[in-house]
Amino acid sequence: MAVLWLEDVDADDVGTVGGKAASLGELIGAGLPVPPGFTVTAGTYRDFIEESGIDDELFSAVDVDPEDSAALREAEEAAEELILETPLPDEVRDEILDRYRSMGDDEEAFVAVRSSATAEDLPDSSFAGQQETFLNVREADLIRRVKECWASLFTQRAIYYRQQRGFPHAEVDIAVVIQRMVDADKSGVMFTSHPSTGDPQITIEAAWGLGEAVVSGTVSPDNYVYDRDRGAVDDVTIAEKKVEMVKDPESGETVQLDIDDDRRESRVLSDEEIDRLVTLGERVEDHYGTPQDVEWAIHDGEIFMLQSRPITTIQESDEGDDAGTDATADDRESGTRGGSTAEDSDADVLVDGLGASPGIVSGAVRIVHKLDHLDQVQEGDVMVTEMTMPDMVPAMKRAAGIVTDEGGMTSHAAIISRELGVPAVVGTGNGTRLLEDGRNVTLDGDKGTIRPGTDDDAESGEEFEPVEAARPETPVKPMTATEVKVNVSIPEAAERAAATGADGVGLLRIEHMVLSLGKTPERYISDHGARAYQDELIEGVRRVAEEFYPRPVRVRTIDAPTDEFRDLEGGDGEPNEHNPMLGWRGIRRSLDKPEPFRQELAAFARLLEMGYDNLEVMFPLVNDATEIEGIKRHMRESGIDPETNRWGVMIETPASALQIEELAAAGIDFASFGTNDLTQYTLAVDRNNENVADRFDELHPAVLTLIGDTIETCRELGVDTSICGQAGSKSEMVDFLVEQGVSSISANIDAVRDVQHEVKRTEQRLLLDSVR
Ligand code: PEP
Ligand code: MG
Repeated sequence: MAVLWLEDVDADDVGTVGGKAASLGELIGAGLPVPPGFTVTAGTYRDFIEESGIDDELFSAVDVDPEDSAALREAEEAAEELILETPLPDEVRDEILDRYRSMGDDEEAFVAVRSSATAEDLPDSSFAGQQETFLNVREADLIRRVKECWASLFTQRAIYYRQQRGFPHAEVDIAVVIQRMVDADKSGVMFTSHPSTGDPQITIEAAWGLGEAVVSGTVSPDNYVYDRDRGAVDDVTIAEKKVEMVKDPESGETVQLDIDDDRRESRVLSDEEIDRLVTLGERVEDHYGTPQDVEWAIHDGEIFMLQSRPITTIQESDEGDDAGTDATADDRESGTRGGSTAEDSDADVLVDGLGASPGIVSGAVRIVHKLDHLDQVQEGDVMVTEMTMPDMVPAMKRAAGIVTDEGGMTSHAAIISRELGVPAVVGTGNGTRLLEDGRNVTLDGDKGTIRPGTDDDAESGEEFEPVEAARPETPVKPMTATEVKVNVSIPEAAERAAATGADGVGLLRIEHMVLSLGKTPERYISDHGARAYQDELIEGVRRVAEEFYPRPVRVRTIDAPTDEFRDLEGGDGEPNEHNPMLGWRGIRRSLDKPEPFRQELAAFARLLEMGYDNLEVMFPLVNDATEIEGIKRHMRESGIDPETNRWGVMIETPASALQIEELAAAGIDFASFGTNDLTQYTLAVDRNNENVADRFDELHPAVLTLIGDTIETCRELGVDTSICGQAGSKSEMVDFLVEQGVSSISANIDAVRDVQHEVKRTEQRLLLDSVR
């Protein structure tokens, strides 16, 4: 049997019909209203490739070097051509079309055609190719769409993923679901219990038209909260719904329409509809025995359930959602100097500095100078150095803790140790002189202190376990209207970063990837060729884009000052600048010396072409719109269309904040506050100079005025705003930004969860204030 009705399958059939079809079958079996449909079984795909004899050719065509982008592209094309060009046996075609025809009443039904992967043993089934979904399909295209779902097993991303992990292509199967479209008047999602705490509270989000608008985040939905204990609606928040997705009656295509004034701010769901949804939600939860995340739609008053998945974010412990029992982002991010609180006896502090990465550890001091051999840093040592550099990262990973003489909260040592999850104290001034090589010490990355001796508690890791290590693996993710993203500088941190549940990457720095090549970009290109340089960037960026897909990743072109290039091979040609921070860095250098810049853009263009359409390009240290002309020209020449791809600039100088209207007119999609530099350039305080670290104040009224005014203008002009500087991890800054209406906040890995909660608290306070 090539096809099975959904009502004839259940959870036991995952291997035959894939996860999606099996779960729809379960819902129907439980008596829930699911639009009618059938599935083309995984065996049908298997028989097709085996009986037509294309299987060997197919699997050998996709057995390519995953790091060779050209080979990957050819593999995808070859697989697609084989699958699409090989005819389907007549009896299979007839079986599919017969089922389809029996679903229509008098006229041809519009159906959704979706992949339903069976490779449940893949850690993330999105890689299996089950992304493919075609909406509003009718008979003429049906067979081709089914084959396109099959071919989606062999996109470049899927091939890359399986090749890299040694997962055999021959073992992955795919089924396809064909289901009647619900011409939704309204639709949305429902959480049958509180998504963070598991409390008996149902949250429903609802918008006009098809559900894609809500699921993709194109529209802000209404929000209804229902208390299951009291059996009553607790809270209703009506959003301004500017657009809706509907089916174009002529073409059957999904189109986005503006919503007229009277429906924009009117309530989507009546009390009666909420009651019916709640009843269905409770039934689904009872059926599965766990809280569910349900997609639903209403057509002509009839409710349909489109999908149901378990909620995976509920925390096991009894800690309340907003109880605020953890250290707040600020406790850990304030960078206050150590040794100053009452309970600390200053007497035994050997050295103090800025607590740059949280956690308490003990180990033997290992002093490392710039040109030293890094092998001497052993697993569990406390590494002490003037300042870390990119080639020290392997040693930083081995170290239990890191101490530097120089640097502030945004220095290399601070950023990288946070991403590695290694406790660190930076800017001690004299750590390398005062700490004795081999001596046992205890480092407190929260307080910024180094004390003598081994702290038993630190070693046992119980009482003093770093805050984030004590957290559950699946983070609690409160629903917030303001997106909360994460910053990434080293591709190895991608997995940890994605596991925070962040809504994307607000800043992916490439400086680390480039500087760790050991040569200046110019030298690297002249020694190894432009293609090799692109390949290095592709490898690092792809790891992050892959981990987050389809969540957006903002990758930034290079922004290293000349003094950082000077230490590299080829760096002797760098100009000797008095003030590298005010010198030839960021977009100025890129536009003056476009060769490496062009290769960066070409690498991003290749990634976009490979299917990483979640990449957005961002440009650093822009001052005004005159630079945008050059940026756009280089984007076009490299194959990135600034009209269709999302891109934007950092706001890091007062000039850029004051020129925001001109920048918006020049076509940016987003502006992201780089408060490390914006603070440095507004207050004339060197961000890396520990002598003035106490004057480095991102919350200074002058900085906040620049930020607030820029957000206001951007909101008027429809430009998204974000923050990706260190201050995005501070609770006061988060409150300020949410109040001003920022679109997203990007925080350090260790601060994401606190920021999610802080955003939620502020959003709720604003809502309450508005009705009081
Ligand atoms: C910033 O300036 O705030 C920023 C995020 O960029 P970087 O720290 O890389 O200069
Ligand atoms: Mg910057």
